[in-house]
Formats: sequence, structure tokens, C-alpha cells
Amino acid sequence: MSETFDRIPRGTHDILPEDEKYWSFVDDILKKHCLAMGLNQITTPVIDFKSLFIRSVGTQSDIVKKEIYSVQRLDTKTEDTKDKEERDELVLRPEVTAQVARAYIQHGMQTWPQPVRLFYLRQPNFRYERPQAGRYRQHFQFGVESFGSDDPLTDAQLILLLWQVFQDIKLSDNIIFDINTIGCKKCRPDVKKQIVKYYKAHEEQLCDDCRERLKKNPLRVLDCKNPKCQEITLEAPQIIDSICPECQTHFRQILEILDELEIPYNLNPQLVRGLDYYTRTVFEAREETDEKRQSSLVGGGRYDDLVEELGGTPTPAVGFSFGYERIIEKLKEKEIEVPELLGPEVLLVQLGDKAKIKSLPLVAKLNRLGFRTTVIPGKESLRSQLRMADRLGCEIALIIGQREAFDNTIIFRKMKEGVQETIDIERIEKFLIKYFKR
Ligand SMILES: [Zn+2]
Ligand SMILES: [Zn+2]
Repeated sequence: MSETFDRIPRGTHDILPEDEKYWSFVDDILKKHCLAMGLNQITTPVIDFKSLFIRSVGTQSDIVKKEIYSVQRLDTKTEDTKDKEERDELVLRPEVTAQVARAYIQHGMQTWPQPVRLFYLRQPNFRYERPQAGRYRQHFQFGVESFGSDDPLTDAQLILLLWQVFQDIKLSDNIIFDINTIGCKKCRPDVKKQIVKYYKAHEEQLCDDCRERLKKNPLRVLDCKNPKCQEITLEAPQIIDSICPECQTHFRQILEILDELEIPYNLNPQLVRGLDYYTRTVFEAREETDEKRQSSLVGGGRYDDLVEELGGTPTPAVGFSFGYERIIEKLKEKEIEVPELLGPEVLLVQLGDKAKIKSLPLVAKLNRLGFRTTVIPGKESLRSQLRMADRLGCEIALIIGQREAFDNTIIFRKMKEGVQETIDIERIEKFLIKYFKR
């Protein structure tokens, strides 16, 4: 017996029509705010070079070490040399920031008016995750990247954008931002030295991961979720005490702007974020009740060295991203009402061959006029087509039978009232405008 395809790979999911209203709701609000702030949309490919991510997120990140999927064409016999070169290098992208930084360099955006502020909508990313609730191997992201400004105003403006989005999707009531600074190229070595010195003294009590981190990425020890490590971290030196005066001023200014905007935030000295490219500001957004940051809703920060690291001219930058799945889960959990997606409002009922031929041109005309109109193929009887009109929630049924097709008339039926009249086919538009008050 042949296989029945009724499953998809673990960690992936379909977005079904019944769920689409949540996704559209979020998309519409995101797009509205991004455009209002003068951002431009960008879309990058789902596949890209492995080296881009190794260079950007760092060889020590979990992403590079464990989570990236490689891409290969099944047929390797008909490859040309270029394909062959790329074959071993292509991966499914684990994140978008590095790609946007690459696009900034590749398309000469440093000559555009700065800052260049870009956003991307509903972009799938791929990371290997252990299968469990709320963890996806393909997940969808929204994000913003701003290049060419190191002004604290830029950082604050991105947080403001997020805050406005949270307000509009009605999740802002118990959202709080965690924010921290992790220093710049100049002061980071000092920061690291302090951190390493402190944890070295407690090395025995640290978890295995943290002992490893201490060697390669010591700041991440601060962020360990292991209770024992967290206990030690309580007494750890705070990054903010060992950063340079410029970094301190930068951070203070962001906080002053956030105060002025009355955006709720929490200074979190443990927040460092997982990726190598972050400098200075790092932030996350979470529910107030999620004090341990088990499931943050947004993550972002500054990455002033990334463009240069990827071979471009030194360009300060800041950005953030969020995953749709978690946000939509919250919308459902909190029973936030989102607009229903609009179905057809007019059903054209056609009876007989002549009516069938006339039906599609009429539907096309009404669609063009802005009336959401459809026709049901294959249904024979008037009754079954009217029943469909009900099921689809159509308010108006337009009926063309043999006689109407011949007379150039049509029956205009109000579904709810069950009243109808025969009108001249030319007068449909007027009737619909009057009925729908458009
Ligand atoms: Zn600094
Ligand atoms: Zn640990």
C-alpha cells in the first residue's frame, strides 16, 4: 500500500485559514507602524552561505554549533562548478540580521541617507530544536534593522516601535522590557576580565556549560538559567561598572528617553543575549510575570561591529526581532479579539448552461467594483447554492436562472430577510451600493 501523506516534519506547522486572522492582524499592525516611522521593507532569501552566519553569530553560538540545517540538491551530477562551490556552503538561514547586514554592504546602502532602517515581515527561520511545545524548527520572524546611527535615539525609537505594536495588539498591559548594556569593542575586554576573575573563583560550582562559556564566551555565564549558576551570579560584578564613559552615557541617554516615553523597563544586569555580534545595548521584552525570562517575546540590541566584521565600512547598527508563534500564542491565551478575515459577501447563484457562461464575467465585474463576490461551481439546485450562501455568510445572493439569462435580468435576494426582487442586470451595482451603503 502506498504511503498516505498526512504529516509534516517535526517542529514545523501549517498556518491554517482559521489561524490566519491572527497572523494578518499582527502583520497589519507591524507594517502600519513600520511605514509610519519611515522604515522600508526588505526580504532576503531563505538559503544563504554558512560562512555568513559563522562570521556573524559566532562559532561559539548554539546556532552554529548545533542548530543550522544544510541545504543540498538531490542531483549532484548536473552541477556546474559554481553550484559545486556553493553546495557545501548553503544552509537554511537561522536568523535574518546577518543577511540584512550583508544586503546593506552588497547594495551600497552606506551611500543612502543614514540611518537606513529596514524591516522584514513573516520570514521563516530554521533552527534545530528539541521537539517540545512552543519550540519550532521552522519559525517565523518579524524584525527591524537600523544601520548608520549610533545615536541612543535610534535604540529608543526601536523600543518605542515595539511598544506601540504591543499596545495595538493589546498585549502591552503586562509587558516589560529588560535592558542592559554590554560595552563596546574598547571596553569589553575589561568587562570580560572582571567577569572571568569573579567566576574563576567559583568555577567548581558552575554548571558544565558555564565552565565552557568561561573559556570562550564568559559574558554568557551571567545569563545561565541554571539555579546554582544564578545564585553565584547574584554577587557577580555588574557590567555597567566596568564599561567606558561613552558607553555609560549612551546607555543613560536611552534610559532617559524611555523614562520620558513612560515605557516600562527593568535594568537587568544579567541580560547579555546569545549572539556574538551584540555591542552596547541589549534588550528583550517579556511578560512581567515571567521574571526569569523563560520565554521572552522579543530580543534585540546593538551590533556596531557587524557590518565591518562582514567586510563593510564601519557602520553602527541596532535591531530586534520577534517570533510570531509566541506572540500569537499569547493573543489566544489572553483571548484577544482580532478582526475576522472577510469572506464573500455576495454569492452568484447560476442555474443552467447559459447562466454558467454569464456568471464569471459578472463576478469579475463585481470584484473589480469592490464587492466580495464568488460563485459555486458544480452545484445544481437553487436550494443547495442558497445553502452555501448561508454557510459562507453571504448577505446577498444574486440568482441567474435560464429565464434571467435570457432576459438580461437577475434576482437580488437579501439572505437574512429572505426577500427578493427581479431587477435589470445593469442595475446590480446600484442595488449593491445601496445595500452595503458604500
Ligand atoms: Zn565602551
Ligand atoms: Zn550555568
